Amino acid sequence: MESSSAATVSAGPSPGPTPADLLRRLRARGAADPVTHVERVPARPGVPAPWPSWAPPELRAAFARRGVVAPWQHQAQAATLAYEGEHVVVATGTASGKSLAYQLPALATLLADPRATVLYLAPTKALAADQLRAVAALELEGVRPACYDGDTPRTEREWIRRHSRFVLTNPDMLHHGVLPGHAQWSGFLRRLAYVVIDECHTYRGVFGSHVAHVLRRLRRQCARFGSTPVFVLASATSGDPSTAAGRLTGLPVTAVTEDASPRGGVTFALWEPPLLPPDSGPSTPVPPQSTGDHDDLQQIRRSALRETADLLADTVAEGVRTLAFVRSRKGAEVVAANARRALDDAVPGLSDRVAAYRGGYLREERRELERALLHGDLLGLASTNALELGVDLVGLDAVLICGYPGTRASLWQQAGRAGRSGQEALAVLVARDDPLDTYLVHHPEAIFGAPVEATVLDPANPYVLAPQLACAAFEAPLTPADLALFGDGAKEAVDQLVAAGALRQRPTGWYWRHRERPEVDLRGEGGAPVCVVESSTGRLLGTVDGGSSHFLLHSGAVYLHQGVSYVVDDLDLVDGCALVHAEEPDWSTHARDVTDLSVVSVRSYVDAGPVGMFLGEVDVTSQVVSYQRRRIATGEVIDTRPLDLPARELRTVAVWFTLSPQSLTLAGVQPADVPGALHAAEHAAIGLLPLMATCDRWDIGGLSTAVHQDTEAPTVFVYDGHQGGAGFAERAYGTASAWLRATRDAIAECGCESGCPSCVQSPKCGNGNNPLSKPDAIRVLDVVLANLPE
Ligand SMILES: [Zn+2]
Ligand SMILES: [Zn+2]
Repeated sequence: MESSSAATVSAGPSPGPTPADLLRRLRARGAADPVTHVERVPARPGVPAPWPSWAPPELRAAFARRGVVAPWQHQAQAATLAYEGEHVVVATGTASGKSLAYQLPALATLLADPRATVLYLAPTKALAADQLRAVAALELEGVRPACYDGDTPRTEREWIRRHSRFVLTNPDMLHHGVLPGHAQWSGFLRRLAYVVIDECHTYRGVFGSHVAHVLRRLRRQCARFGSTPVFVLASATSGDPSTAAGRLTGLPVTAVTEDASPRGGVTFALWEPPLLPPDSGPSTPVPPQSTGDHDDLQQIRRSALRETADLLADTVAEGVRTLAFVRSRKGAEVVAANARRALDDAVPGLSDRVAAYRGGYLREERRELERALLHGDLLGLASTNALELGVDLVGLDAVLICGYPGTRASLWQQAGRAGRSGQEALAVLVARDDPLDTYLVHHPEAIFGAPVEATVLDPANPYVLAPQLACAAFEAPLTPADLALFGDGAKEAVDQLVAAGALRQRPTGWYWRHRERPEVDLRGEGGAPVCVVESSTGRLLGTVDGGSSHFLLHSGAVYLHQGVSYVVDDLDLVDGCALVHAEEPDWSTHARDVTDLSVVSVRSYVDAGPVGMFLGEVDVTSQVVSYQRRRIATGEVIDTRPLDLPARELRTVAVWFTLSPQSLTLAGVQPADVPGALHAAEHAAIGLLPLMATCDRWDIGGLSTAVHQDTEAPTVFVYDGHQGGAGFAERAYGTASAWLRATRDAIAECGCESGCPSCVQSPKCGNGNNPLSKPDAIRVLDVVLANLPE
């Protein structure tokens, strides 16, 4: 969470080496220098402001008791705008004290009006719990703050609805609990003065589009009860926060973006793991696809996980409190396990002070890890980005970022954990064997010289709009006036719901026809999380989101939890549960899928002679069909085993380009090499798309073919991996020439001979990265770029 105090002071071990010294020691380990760039991000002094005149003395005194002597300028500015009734988003860096910006107007209003109420929304329960502690610690009379989420005992719920005036919850609870039960909440909603939306940049893509409609449903209920709350949003630094917050809430929102909090200086290094000697692995590298990180197998470069584990061990051995961000939960556990192993050899006793952390852990486990790192009992923590949201962990001595986190905004948020007040800190981005990471460590201007991305969401997605309108109709019949609130496409979606028998039209509006309320998952087609249960004890080990479960929890999969290895006995998709037993086999598992695609309609296209560029709707069918078992030590494939999992259907948005066969022949691509050329270009193009849009390589899919039944030409498709699309393909189409130019450069600049994971190989390829032709991919992209208008 964001600290509300003006200056965050963290306890910790005595100061270790300076960042410059530390970096010098780390990079001197190997033969070749892995650092491609060092950026000094200078320290920044804070700009304090006086308390706003409207802030009552008892509130100022309460903050002063918590160590806040005066607000920073951006806090005072945002707070005053909100107090005066303007919807406001404060979008500043990690630990800039965004919470004071909403606490101040919200609490001042609660003190001035003994009936008023505040609703606070966080993306995670952990963040809401932290915020509850912060508000409760102010000890203000009559506020009675309380968390209301899935963990709240039934016996307390009624008391909270009746008596709490500061309710902290999350969008899921608002969607599943509060809004359907609005009658019980009428007293609270009637007096609602503020809605606080913390970490609002996390509401992006399909999830963000759902949350946007949950907020419209909330506004509709408030209007029915006669209240018009002011929305205050807090965001990480992001491009155009006013527009994004406006799309999310459906309201005009003023942005405050000038960060006036002080910041420690950071030495930021870009780190490219060294190439391995050619004889150190099997001749055909096949990167694994099951974790989102490359495991430490079969690489041409040393893997980022292994490199990060070594860096973590080295910094911990220096007594430096270090947080390592790893993209997947499996990766975080591998990094922690390897760092512990390295420390056992080097400094016996220290390995106990390294742990793994990720979102799927149970609450008690998470709390314990957070507490240990804050108190310095732990020196090293490997974490997924779950921690990006959850915890008030700032002031670390070093942050290691294993793989580009997908956006500059996330990169800065993760790096922002480094830097105790008044002290210099170190941040290291360790590049993965991946086209985007490789491009970035060789083009530092794309990191340090570029603005952060805008948050993309699309409330008009019909796959989001229709189910949300069904929920709204369940809560109260829809009227024509309501349709304006839900925006473009609402009338069409309502007509479809009527045709499907879900709604009935009457003179007074549209009515939900069923007794049960509609079942709608805010996270889209990903489905409910799957529980991981140990068969022998019945113990719940954790959860995995539905979308990943086919890949990670299929029968026979090796699943890591807190560094302990389990093997899945059975994945029960009906009950949403995977039964596992503890076992440490000497192989890892890697799921494979097959994909089929057909064009439904073309929305827009560019006719560029031999080249065509298209945006449109497509149907994609994919199925996890088998998995490979590979020897951990050597990467040798032991066998491939079939799986019997259902196919998943996706109607989504794609961008695609076609080339005439003649243009390819003229460019020197032999007909037999066309499939490999297109396939290689597709992989690299998917890898580079996150440079243009706020998406993850794992949000996007692709397909290439020498002749496609719908285009009748050599074609490369890149599609949104979400039902109805999430805006990524659209963004790719809009920036096509810049996107494919960066793709071409990334391939051409890669030092490998014939293609590697840094350029044209993909960790999620359903075809085992075969065929691929690196030189021909460059020829394909040259033809496209020569013909496509800028
Ligand atoms: Zn390469
Ligand atoms: Zn592929």
